[in-house]
Amino acid sequence: MDIYPLIMSQGELINHKSLHFPIEERGLQFGDGVYEVIRLYNGSFYLLKDHIDRLFRSLEAIKLTIAFSGDELASILKSLVKENKVAKDSIIYLQVTRGSAPRTHFFPEDVEPNMYAYVKPVPRPIDKIKTGVSTITHIDERWKNCHIKSLNLLPNILAKQVAVERGCFEALLYGEEDKLITEGSSSNIYLVKNKTIHTHPESNAILTGCVRNAVKRLAENLNIPFVERAFTTKDLVSADELFLTSSISEVMPIVKVNGIQINDGKRGAISKRLQEAYEEDALITSLKKQ
Ligand code: PMP
Repeated sequence: MDIYPLIMSQGELINHKSLHFPIEERGLQFGDGVYEVIRLYNGSFYLLKDHIDRLFRSLEAIKLTIAFSGDELASILKSLVKENKVAKDSIIYLQVTRGSAPRTHFFPEDVEPNMYAYVKPVPRPIDKIKTGVSTITHIDERWKNCHIKSLNLLPNILAKQVAVERGCFEALLYGEEDKLITEGSSSNIYLVKNKTIHTHPESNAILTGCVRNAVKRLAENLNIPFVERAFTTKDLVSADELFLTSSISEVMPIVKVNGIQINDGKRGAISKRLQEAYEEDALITSLKKQ
């Protein structure tokens, strides 16, 4: 579906048709910037503060400063949603680049960052979260700063494309040497064994997902052990359950890896409990707090 007509550019709301960038824009030419994808349910934000905090961590990591505080940015995004009269399940895409300047690898001087955000309807994956999805494993070919939500996504895109060409939803990335699963091309990955959830610890090998943080909190509330320890490609096939999370995919069961069924190809009990807890948190609890 189309994006909503009003977008945010440099903190101001404008019609999206009036957004233009010069050819020499560092996001376009170098991917020199960072971004966030933030979930809205029925026009209300979910995990907004987590996303803004992560954006500022990413900005700091690439030595980029913007003229807005986190609170200011949050209120700009809220007005973007309000002015567009967003009522559906949707996402905000927010991007900050180092700005427009003659192309040089080093940081140009006195350049203003380019920041824009738009809202787009994105329905909940209500069918897929029941049936689960198929996946492949793929070598993690990325750099050593995956904790930064960088615009540079080529290795992620190439891995996802291989998955799609094999009729799968996601590529589970693993280290070439240690065979440890880091994360998905656009999601965090979890393995359930003996009623305990395992996932890769926070490090520069993964992006700390905002939904990952929420799932950790929800698992703790449900007294489901949540262990931040990486597992290998071999562990996948003997898992009781596997699932992935992201702002778009929510808590998504994985029912196949490289053609091998997990949990007889069905959503597992712990995945289902977490999905229910996620729905409660995203659609009820967080609404009450707004
Ligand atoms: N890892 C990667 C590489 C991602 O692209 C994403 C999606 N943004 C995630 C994890 C999940 O992050 P979140 O839960 O904040 O959507």
